[in-house]
Amino acid sequence: MNKVRLTLGLFLFQINMSYAGWVSGGGQVVRDGNNPWFLENTQVVKYCITSSKEFSNLPTPVENLVEQSLKYWKEEFNYSLRHSPGFEFGKIKIATQTFFKVDCDENPDLALQFGVLNELQEQFLGDPKKFIGIAVRTDYDEVNLKAKGFIYFSPDSGPLRYLGEHLKDNAWHLGYGGYLKRLVIHELGHVFGISHTEDGRIMAEGYPEELIRKPLDNFPDIWNTGLSMEGFFKYKNSLNFSNLCGLIIVTDEKPKKQAQNLTDEHKFLGLTKEPSCVFFDNLNYRQKFVAKVHYELNDPLVPIGEFNIDYSKTIAWPARSNEVVKLRLNPKQTVFHYSGDPHDLLPVAIRVVEVYGGSYHTYDGKIRKPIRANVSPSKIEIFGAYHDKVLKVY
Ligand SMILES: [Zn+2]
Repeated sequence: MNKVRLTLGLFLFQINMSYAGWVSGGGQVVRDGNNPWFLENTQVVKYCITSSKEFSNLPTPVENLVEQSLKYWKEEFNYSLRHSPGFEFGKIKIATQTFFKVDCDENPDLALQFGVLNELQEQFLGDPKKFIGIAVRTDYDEVNLKAKGFIYFSPDSGPLRYLGEHLKDNAWHLGYGGYLKRLVIHELGHVFGISHTEDGRIMAEGYPEELIRKPLDNFPDIWNTGLSMEGFFKYKNSLNFSNLCGLIIVTDEKPKKQAQNLTDEHKFLGLTKEPSCVFFDNLNYRQKFVAKVHYELNDPLVPIGEFNIDYSKTIAWPARSNEVVKLRLNPKQTVFHYSGDPHDLLPVAIRVVEVYGGSYHTYDGKIRKPIRANVSPSKIEIFGAYHDKVLKVY
């Protein structure tokens, strides 16, 4: 669920009898409210698409964006670590269904509504302009563990435009349509049962808002509007870091030219002069990162050193995993033989963060230091020590 300025708590108070049982995705756990809408016993999902005139003339039509987004999750879920708590299906699999597009008057399981709401839906949302996008489960079959619902996407112009001066105008029409695709992926993520993550990436609560936030003065736009996506369960380096100079670490907190002192991160990297900007090129897939420096913005880039992650050197602690999809089985369900407590929240899809060792060395040969790298599907974080202080250096 993505609201521009509204807490879930506030808006749950507005629920009345006519839409009792409606649950919006990604918010607080409401019993089985965060269950995936479909499990393996559902083989075909009928979905429909409606759109208002504000969604016409898109760089990529909504039908294609929806198809690509469904494909994205089907592929990604292949890479999730799945739990197998003794169900008859063995491991529970998500996003295995065939998605079949129908007309919206054919009572589909899932309606994707671009700028279109019926009266009841509008009443439920209160002011739909407060949402950039929202997935709402309107019906849940507790026996077959199958949901129905709709996803609403706010238009980027017109009377129902998402609220907020800080948000881009016409965001859905920019580039190749990558902003809207990312929003569709986020909301479909909730349909597949993914709760909000804390990593600032595609399933983070604030992601849709950040996605279309107007860039601050002269800052390059952090999201490209292309259609290729980073992975969620599987690490894919699709971000072009060289476009992010000035946004990634080290100098991004301080206005340029103002800081006189080198930060500990700069010193870790072996810099002796205040840089205007430091960025990292990810070479050799995800193993080697070259730190490059602009001392003055218009000067040539100077490679100063490189990080090498040693994937043979697993550090067991503090490896973390992230249970991003959980399932609650109510006593009425007949899909699984489960003898455990029906209130158990069962981990279904797990995203793993692995921790590896490695090293950083400067090209002048003066510095060689150990590093630790947290590698998760959506990002790599590198930590190093400087004077007994652990620093996040990438
Ligand atoms: Zn959300």
